[in-house]
Amino acid sequence: MSTTLIGLTGGIASGKTTAARCLRNFGFGIIDADLLAKHVFSERLQEIKSLFPEITQAQTEDFRTRLAEEVFENSEARQKLNAFMHPAIRALVKKQQQQFEAEQMPVVFYDAPLLFETGGDAFVKATLLIYAPYEMQLQRLMQRNTYSKQHALARMTSQMDIEIKRQRATWVVENLGSQEELHQKLDKWREEALSAFLLAQT
Ligand code: ATP
Repeated sequence: MSTTLIGLTGGIASGKTTAARCLRNFGFGIIDADLLAKHVFSERLQEIKSLFPEITQAQTEDFRTRLAEEVFENSEARQKLNAFMHPAIRALVKKQQQQFEAEQMPVVFYDAPLLFETGGDAFVKATLLIYAPYEMQLQRLMQRNTYSKQHALARMTSQMDIEIKRQRATWVVENLGSQEELHQKLDKWREEALSAFLLAQT
């Protein structure tokens, strides 16, 4: 039996992590892109440092912070880091997918905040977007991270507009009410849309 890999994405603070928790509780496998990125970063730190000699002069403990600032502000640096990270992460996704396959897990979600931005949608069978409108994302982000409005807006505009993601996603689940409502919507979605999709695949 082959495992169907589905991309799970959203905008900043739209509720992906909350949705991933529900999906895990339903018994689905989850591959966490952020965790894999952290793993690649620590395992291959020396190679990454060699790509950014101008920052490497900094103390090791400052390197991560300095690099994060650099890639946020400088698109060339961002592209350079992405060109290294994405194939490395992709290889780990493949490995985890194979492990789930060996366990005969029918559906696995690839939880990736930047799924569309990084072209990760090309490697999954379909995509599920957890949607919250701009204003709601802003409020949740300011509340969760205690960011100022200006800082939260800067973070949000660094990602693809959620309305564009909405047009590209196979399915959209709106996270506009309580977390309990999100859970119920996801439950209904897996019973109906996901089941129909899996049936059509066989
Ligand atoms: P990011 O990509 O920025 O990490 P995310 O999309 O994974 O964010 P979550 O961490 O799931 O989003 O949710 C953002 C914040 O909003 C969290 O503090 C979460 O508890 C809260 N939240 C999520 N869904 C709801 C909801 N339906 N009602 C109230 N709060 C919610």
